[in-house]
Amino acid sequence: MKVLVINCGSSSLKYQLIDSESEKVLAKGLCERIGIDGRLTYQPEGGEKEVTDTAMPTHKEAIQLVLDALVNEKTGAIASLKEIDAVGHRIVHGGEKFAGSAVINDEMIAAVEECSALAPLHNPANLIGIRACQDLMPGVPMVGVFDTAFHQTMPKKAYLYGLPRKYYTEYGVRKYGFHGTSHSFVSKEAAKFLGLDLNNSKIIVAHLGNGSSISAVLNGKSVDTSMGLTPLAGLVMGTRCGDIDPSIVEFIANKENKSVSEVLNILNKESGVFGLSDGLSSDFRDLGEGAANGNEAAQDALDVFAYRVAATIGSYVAAMNGVDAIAFTAGIGENDKDTRKAIVDYLGYLGVTLDEEKNGLRGENVVISTEDSKVKVAVIPTNEELMICRETVALVG
Ligand code: AMP
Repeated sequence: MKVLVINCGSSSLKYQLIDSESEKVLAKGLCERIGIDGRLTYQPEGGEKEVTDTAMPTHKEAIQLVLDALVNEKTGAIASLKEIDAVGHRIVHGGEKFAGSAVINDEMIAAVEECSALAPLHNPANLIGIRACQDLMPGVPMVGVFDTAFHQTMPKKAYLYGLPRKYYTEYGVRKYGFHGTSHSFVSKEAAKFLGLDLNNSKIIVAHLGNGSSISAVLNGKSVDTSMGLTPLAGLVMGTRCGDIDPSIVEFIANKENKSVSEVLNILNKESGVFGLSDGLSSDFRDLGEGAANGNEAAQDALDVFAYRVAATIGSYVAAMNGVDAIAFTAGIGENDKDTRKAIVDYLGYLGVTLDEEKNGLRGENVVISTEDSKVKVAVIPTNEELMICRETVALVG
């Protein structure tokens, strides 16, 4: 099957056309600045990347441009749109309604709309992408794959907050967790790669990117994760603060005469390692360079990040009463050997030892712990698009 994978944001849209049998990407790219001016990037397999500035007033025009590029006579990946057998859509929040991927129909869309209160910036954008695809590709089966679904197996003791119960029962305030597609993909890949029986395993996945989260995966099921009701919770991230004392919100609001939403905006966009480094950067390459040049704030940001990751891993070892493997993934997890070393250096009590040479390798799945390490540590590149393709085929293939 050929599956078009769509990840639709409010003003951007990423896409990949994947052949599900070979799992090869036939073409990929993105639409940016939708509703502003518009820019299409398109790259066929083995071909040059093309960037075209072109008007895309709405997502419908953006998707039309993607479809035109896919069937372009010279550089198109397919001869006709009839070759697209299915579309897989990333959807951010499935609340408690979706514990797995779902075929898109009117009833499913209504349920996603009901979850929009929990992700007011993301779900409406995802739905716009779904509707635009339905208009342009009538009759093509479509599947929604949720960021939250993988974590729906968490037990109550992990997802309930210490708040008045009615906030959960009436408004659905609880831990949901995100990056579920990545945690699901990486935990399965890690088990396969390391020769573990997924159904009898304890795996911790550290998805460390601009947004970061960790999950505890027991026997293939998520039993805890670090993000919460929203992706603001848990680890210190690129610009998000992660867990803080909730009283800080009122304290800063009073000190700086700001509203709650203004403070929340700071916690989302100006905090994390960016805020800690005094605005130097949210990118770990810049922070590493800054720290190497003696920038104390950059070093603090790196130290705080690694400490929080290590402490969270420790809490998930406790949650699962042990761990067989730890998998690093996403931009930082896959590429930043110094940050991986800083984290793994905390894990000596688990009998973990790092193979420094292997830790320097990049690209593919690789074990970075020594042969005699009691817990295996691996780098497993994530592939959310491929996971969405697999889920789509599983439901409509
Ligand atoms: P992601 O959100 O998964 O795309 O991750 C993006 C982040 O990964 C960037 O902001 C960087 O902090 C980090 N990153 C990407 N490449 C490298 C690299 N070569 N070395 C260190 N950090 C990197």
